[in-house]
Amino acid sequence: TNQERQRLVIGNWKMNGNLADNARLLGSVRESVAGAGACAVAVCVPFPYLSQAQAALSGSAVSWGAQDVSVHGSGAYTGEVSAAMLNDFACRWVLVGHSERRTYHAETNELVAQKAQVALNAGLTPVVCVGETLQQQEAGETAQVIASQLAPVLALGAQAVAKMVIAYEPVWAIGTGRTATPQQAQDVHALIRQSLSELGVAQVQVLYGGSVKGANAASLFAMPDIDGALVGGAALVAEEFLSIAAA
Ligand code: PGA
Repeated sequence: TNQERQRLVIGNWKMNGNLADNARLLGSVRESVAGAGACAVAVCVPFPYLSQAQAALSGSAVSWGAQDVSVHGSGAYTGEVSAAMLNDFACRWVLVGHSERRTYHAETNELVAQKAQVALNAGLTPVVCVGETLQQQEAGETAQVIASQLAPVLALGAQAVAKMVIAYEPVWAIGTGRTATPQQAQDVHALIRQSLSELGVAQVQVLYGGSVKGANAASLFAMPDIDGALVGGAALVAEEFLSIAAA
């Protein structure tokens, strides 16, 4: 059951925010997430705002992270950001393989697994995102797509996978307002949990993402294999984000 796994809600700001709005949002989140609650709360902000997130959240119960990381250590990779740089800002988390990275930046399953390993090597926790498109779902290919996205990640081995978080985000539910039903999400989470169990790492947290809001969070979190949420749009509105964490 999910009793043994800590609840986790991570905000994914995507390419949103500015110094003034961020200050308000980070302030509200910091203020409302008091101490070690039943649910851990984190935000993944755009690179330029990592310093702001660090300053605003240091010493609070809220942790922070980035939305991507380079597979390269340093050098002539214009526009890239390394894991060591994320460590300079005391990041705890980094999203890897978000569907928007897979879609707009042609990230492959293998590259995503490589990024997860690079993050782990730097002591960061990778949040590995997987999910099928609407077309794949309608073709009944969900299980197969998730399995192929996870394969190179699971191939990193139990020791590595034990330190990751997995996020199931059906692409058709991201930013569409059309969330998966709790049962739809649970079915895929159970498949993911099964693969994790086979590797001996059933304690890995599996988050659901895709149009999670205050109003639907509790019913999703009631499912046995859903350990929390990766939240996009609703993470930009303090009250919405906090009501998801409270659920
Ligand atoms: P959404 O995004 O909550 O806006 O659907 C989730 C995500 O892409 O992580």
